[in-house]
Amino acid sequence: MKKKKLTTASGKPYYENQDSLSAGPRGPILLQDFYLHEKLAHFNRERIPERVVHAKGTGAFGKFTVTHDITRYTKANLFGKVGNECRVFVRFSTVGGEKGSADTERDPRGFAVKLYTEEGNWDLVGNNTPVFFLKDPKKFPDFIHTQKRDPKTNLKSPTMMWDYWSLNPESLHQVMILFSDRGTPHGYRYMNGYGSHTFSMINAAGERMWVKFHFKTQQGIKNFTGPEADAMRGKDPDFSQRDLVTAIGKVVFPKWALKIQVMTQAQAKTFRWNPFDLTKIWPHGEYPLIDVGVMELNQVPSNYFADVEQSAFAPSNIVDGIGLSPDKMLQGRILAYPDAHRYRLGANYEQIPVNRPISEVYNHQRDGAMRVDGNSGDNPNYFPNSFDNIEADKTYKEPPLKLDSDIADIYDRNENDDDHYTQPGMLFRKVMTDAERQNTINNFVAGLSGITGSKREEIILRQLHHFHKADAELAQQVAQKLGVAFKPLV
Ligand code: NDP
Repeated sequence: MKKKKLTTASGKPYYENQDSLSAGPRGPILLQDFYLHEKLAHFNRERIPERVVHAKGTGAFGKFTVTHDITRYTKANLFGKVGNECRVFVRFSTVGGEKGSADTERDPRGFAVKLYTEEGNWDLVGNNTPVFFLKDPKKFPDFIHTQKRDPKTNLKSPTMMWDYWSLNPESLHQVMILFSDRGTPHGYRYMNGYGSHTFSMINAAGERMWVKFHFKTQQGIKNFTGPEADAMRGKDPDFSQRDLVTAIGKVVFPKWALKIQVMTQAQAKTFRWNPFDLTKIWPHGEYPLIDVGVMELNQVPSNYFADVEQSAFAPSNIVDGIGLSPDKMLQGRILAYPDAHRYRLGANYEQIPVNRPISEVYNHQRDGAMRVDGNSGDNPNYFPNSFDNIEADKTYKEPPLKLDSDIADIYDRNENDDDHYTQPGMLFRKVMTDAERQNTINNFVAGLSGITGSKREEIILRQLHHFHKADAELAQQVAQKLGVAFKPLV
């Protein structure tokens, strides 16, 4: 291999990489050893802020291929023709732990997909669950505090978690999934991904439909039981990272089938739940899955920091033909995600190669730290101007979203907003097998057993009442195994 000369960061060949310049062989180090300063100073600045959530993650590049025609729902350029392909980058993660935390913790998994389309980046920033703990972003910081460390002991605290969940019963559906075996997936390849929010699709006729996105694993679902996940935490804390890079290294490329559920605006008006409520699913029996395409992951980034740590996904990155919805959590994330990236990576984070779109970028945003794309050269940095011919193309405007009184009813709080129980009950009774139900009960018992302190019984009883409203048998079995006397309120 051709030898390369060591250089300083500014490119000057430098002659020594081990011994610092000193005043004689035993003397103190000389200030003029600028290579030493550069090396130590850069080392001091190696870390960027850890993501507040989703800190521990792994990622891979791949491709998405359109396999079915959905042009009746969307005019998105990507879906214009069956066979269309685009490059993707996917980052998987756990949510509550720090960057060094164990991969098999009971926790939702992040499933963030960036599709580099010819009309800009489309980010589907989802999880491995179709719902979330909350339906309003105002609650998010409080909720996440309960998943992090106790402010005094700096320990994870089941007391904080269950105190919060039991006081915020809209979390029950997600809590039910979390404490089922799907709360401890067998790495990232064997789990589904969900866009979770309701989005819209807009077709060439300007018609808007409501849509949910599902990435169904083609490897099959595989989970750890609670005890297996606990054991793996000690055996291999990086289990999921290892599983993904090993599989791709062996050319066993994981694949997911992208499917959508579609709801018309008319159906949304009569749906028995708020279709924009992130704690609810749309039953498949009424809104069947429609085939769209296949995503394959086939390349581990050659540098983790460059592509995985610096990757930045935002639900506001949508493409023409895909729109947002009044889902309050989605609305909150549109603001919060780019804000987090500006803090963590800087104002020009979209120029970092993993985030950079393959399409041209034209606007009048300029300067800022780490501007590395030429800063639009000598083009004007103001609008309107007589020189650059950049204009806003009105054909990209979305059709208006009508907020007439009928529709406003479903955006407002209504009686169904307090139905936190029907869907978790459906999951427990209709979807889980006997063995999964038993594991879920055992996982709840293990989780609730961690509550300590003077409020222990109060918190447990409050949560048992929520379980009871979802499924009476579930509450009784958990109470019995915990040794708690539980009488449901009539
Ligand atoms: P279906 O019987 O048509 O589908 C059940 C769904 O649940 C499947 O997508 C299945 O995924 C998934 N699933 C199975 N076990 C679990 C689990 N432990 N945690 C999370 N998801 C699981 O049911 P419905 O559409 O009528 O919905 C019934 C319940 O199923 C819902 O209340 C919800 O809790 C759950 N569910 C529904 C989804 C939806 O979008 N309709 C999506 C995911 C869950 P797979 O097919 O990959 O095995």
